[in-house]
Amino acid sequence: MKFKNFPMVPRVVFGRGSFYALDEILSKQRKGNKAPFIFLVDDWFEGKYLPEQIPLRYDDEVLFISAEKEPKTKQVDQLVEYLRNQHENLPSGIIGIGGGTVLDLAKAVSIMLSNPGKAETYQGWDLVKEPSLYHAGIPTISGTGAEVSRTTVLLGPTKKLGINSDYTTFDQVILDPKLTETVPKEQWFYTGMDCFIHCIESLEGTYLNAFSQSYGEKALALCKEVFLGDLPPEEAQDKLMMASWHGGMSIAYSQVGVAHAMSYGLSYLLGTKHGIGNCLVFQHLEEFYPKGVALFQKMLEKHQIDLPTGLCANLAADELDTLVQVSLGMKPLWENALGTDWENEMCPERLRKLFERI
Ligand code: NAD
Ligand code: ZN
Repeated sequence: MKFKNFPMVPRVVFGRGSFYALDEILSKQRKGNKAPFIFLVDDWFEGKYLPEQIPLRYDDEVLFISAEKEPKTKQVDQLVEYLRNQHENLPSGIIGIGGGTVLDLAKAVSIMLSNPGKAETYQGWDLVKEPSLYHAGIPTISGTGAEVSRTTVLLGPTKKLGINSDYTTFDQVILDPKLTETVPKEQWFYTGMDCFIHCIESLEGTYLNAFSQSYGEKALALCKEVFLGDLPPEEAQDKLMMASWHGGMSIAYSQVGVAHAMSYGLSYLLGTKHGIGNCLVFQHLEEFYPKGVALFQKMLEKHQIDLPTGLCANLAADELDTLVQVSLGMKPLWENALGTDWENEMCPERLRKLFERI
C-alpha cells in the first residue's frame, strides 16, 4: 500500500507520579497466578528507590539490564531462552523501564516470546507473523521516541536494523516525567538532541507531509523551550518528555536523515551510542541543515557540552569504508534527506570526508 497504516500506542498515561498507576493497569492484564509480569529495568536503578515501587505479585520478576551498550539480537535471544526455562507459562507481559535501550529490549523480547527462531531473522520490515505478548514501556529519560515507535533497533551479527512491525509498538505507555529527574546533564543533552535531530531531519526532509510536520513543529518548539529557554526543572522534564513523543510521531510518517544514516555507521563499527553519535555527526552537517546546526551550536554553548573529538581520526582505510558502506545502505534516510537523486549527490568520497571530520 502506498499509504502507511501504522499503529499508535493505544493507551497512555501522563503525569508526575503516574508510575503508580502501573499496579491497577497490570492487574487487568494478568493472565493468572502462573503467568508473571517480567520487568526489564535499567540497572542504574538497582538498589535505588524505583525497584521497591514496582508492584510485584506471584512469580513476577525484575531483571536489571545494563544500558551501557546498545541492545543486541543475541541479548534478546538469551533473555527469551532464560524466560522460557525459568517460567512454566508464557509471561502475562513484559514491562520496560528505562531509556531507549531497555524500551527496545522489552519490545523485542515481547515479540520473540511468541515467535519462533532468532531475533536477527526479524530485523527488517514486517517480518513478524505472530502478535507479541502484552508489553508496556515506561521511559526514564526523554528523547528517542522509542516509547511511541513501531521499531526496536537491534545490533545483529551483520547489521544494525530495527524489527519494524505492527506488533512492535507498545500496548501501554506510562509517561511519568518525574522518573527523568536523575538523568545526568550530559546524557540528558545527548538523548534530548536525538529528539531535536529527529525534528530537523523530518522537517527538512523530502518525505515531509502535514501529518509529520504538525508533530515535528510542536516537538521542535518544545525542544527550543527546553534547551534554549530558562524553564524550571519540572516543566523542562514534562516538556522534553512530550517533545520526545511528538518527535517520534513525526518520523513515524516521514523519516530521519543524514545524521541518523551516519550515526548508524558509527554505532555499527565503533559501538558509539545513538544520542552522542547523532551529536558528533550533526555538528558537521551545516551544508544540509544550516538552521538546525546553528541552533544546535547555541544549545551546546548554553549547556557547556564539550563533544569528544578525533573519533574517526585514526581509523584504517577499510574501517572508513565500512562506515561509508553501512551508512549509504540506509537508502530511505538518504532519499528523505536529499531526494530521489541522492546517489548523485552523496558519493562515497564525500561521505568519507564528512566522517573524517568527526
Ligand atoms: P539509554 O537507554 O542508552 O540510556 C543512557 C544512559 O542513561 C544509561 O547509562 C542509563 O543507565 C541512563 N539512565 C536512563 N534513565 C536514567 C535516569 N532516570 N536516571 C539516571 N540515569 C538514567 O539512552 P537512550 O538515549 O534513551 O537510548 C538509546 C537507545 O535507543 C539506542 O540503543 C538506540 O538505538 C535506541 N533508539 C530507539 C529508537 C526506537 O524508535 N526504537 C529510536 C531512537 C533510539
Ligand atoms: Zn534517533
